[in-house]
Amino acid sequence: MSIATLALPDMTRLSGSGIDFVDEPLFENLLTQKTGSGQIKEIIAKSKNKEALTVEETAVLLNADEPELIEQIFDTARQLKKDVYGNRIVFFAPIYVGNLCMNDCEYCGFRRSNTEQVRRTLSVDELQTQIRRMLAMGHKRTMAVFGEHRNYGPEYIADTVREIYRVEYKHPKSGSISSMRRVNINAAPLSHEGYKIVKNAGIGTYQVFQETYHHATYRRIHPQDTRKGNFMWRLDSPARSIESGCDDVGLGALFGLANWKFEVLSLVAHAAHLMKHYNVGPHTISFPRIRPASGVKIEEVAKNDVADADFLRMIAILRLSVPYTGLIVTAREPAAIRDAALGFGVSQVDAGTSIEIGGYREPGTVQQQALNREQFHIGDERPLDEMIRHLLNNKHIPSFCTACYRLGRTGEVFMEYAKPGFIQNMCTPNALTTLQEYLSDFASPETKAAGEQLLREEIAKLPEGKHKDSILDRIKRIAETDERDLYF
Ligand code: SAM
Ligand code: SF4
Repeated sequence: MSIATLALPDMTRLSGSGIDFVDEPLFENLLTQKTGSGQIKEIIAKSKNKEALTVEETAVLLNADEPELIEQIFDTARQLKKDVYGNRIVFFAPIYVGNLCMNDCEYCGFRRSNTEQVRRTLSVDELQTQIRRMLAMGHKRTMAVFGEHRNYGPEYIADTVREIYRVEYKHPKSGSISSMRRVNINAAPLSHEGYKIVKNAGIGTYQVFQETYHHATYRRIHPQDTRKGNFMWRLDSPARSIESGCDDVGLGALFGLANWKFEVLSLVAHAAHLMKHYNVGPHTISFPRIRPASGVKIEEVAKNDVADADFLRMIAILRLSVPYTGLIVTAREPAAIRDAALGFGVSQVDAGTSIEIGGYREPGTVQQQALNREQFHIGDERPLDEMIRHLLNNKHIPSFCTACYRLGRTGEVFMEYAKPGFIQNMCTPNALTTLQEYLSDFASPETKAAGEQLLREEIAKLPEGKHKDSILDRIKRIAETDERDLYF
């Protein structure tokens, strides 16, 4: 893996849709409007038809303060989650590759002026070891995370992704071989050429968070003499990535920096912008809340802290506004919040997470968080097996499925599949087969018992016919042999 110290791309060539669509006066005005409960109910009815909501309609939901209306929003979110995603929850874990960074984002432990941070980039050997340990836990999908630095150019990111795909883990008992089946990246904005390079390495989702869509706040916390100081270059990056072939994009905002309702409107505007210009919405949206980080004065940075009740309400509103976009809640959040959000909005979680560079330890080793080696403190330290068991006991199906991306069901094509409800015909079976893989190879005895019980219940719900026979056949082959990775 070569660390090429390249000239950084110039930040002038934007996408064909490179305009600033964040209409602050409009959004702020919308958030002051009071609407009658009749209109709110009409909007809720529209979202029940799985139609994406406009910025104006989303503002009406955000302004709805009466407990009865808020309850209706939660109920609708629960229903939509069930209709579009079923009871599956997809699992991933991040791999932090390097924490060198040229930027100075006030909220981040990796920022260049933070002298407390121990700086490190994984060597190839270390990367392989980390991935093997993640595979040994049962992970199949990862998100590779990078600071922004000359050493982490697109070729380096692409080499890292290829290296991750190459790592194999042979299970000591079943003899089955596993490897990462989908490698997503969270990396600083690239040029069109850069996106083509990482796409060629086979990345899944390209994730980039705007952090805040509020211009003055963005300027205040991202110094203008850093690359990240360029608001437009970042705002336009998902569009450039789609134009370059990376059509699964993940948007996000870091909550706590500016008014949360403003950020939600901006995320919905961003999704609508991509839909209008490329006929494809974001694959996922993330909404991390700021966590304590080394050298970060959290009270000074998180001036707009989002209370737990508002945070959950925000997730429910996003579920209504963008019904076909996956919502991710990471281990930044405490267990109780994550558990609550699973039922009405969230479709992807990480677990057993370490965000320290080289932080995945030998199984059985106790992992202590140490802020000077991490980007921030995580809130949910449950191991993967415990989290899976918790989900099973609450009748969610943990899924390690990566089929869509591998069968080319991404971007615009993915939206076509998602819309008519095909997802449940493919996703639920793939969730069941990947759950069986987990139970055969990685689960503790208690988790295995809980998983087998849920599998029986889910199989009983499948309509009789050829498709069910084929699902049963695959589950049996996985349970009884070393065959793996049998997907629809
Ligand atoms: N350097 C790349 C960038 O800035 O896009 C990679 C991202 S950074 C390692 C991943 C994300 O972590 C950031 O986009 C930010 O939203 C989030 N983050 C940074 N500091 C955080 C904190 N203190 N608490 C929670 N999330 C944080
Ligand atoms: Fe660097 Fe990204 Fe952290 Fe900003 S958020 S300091 S760009 S790693």
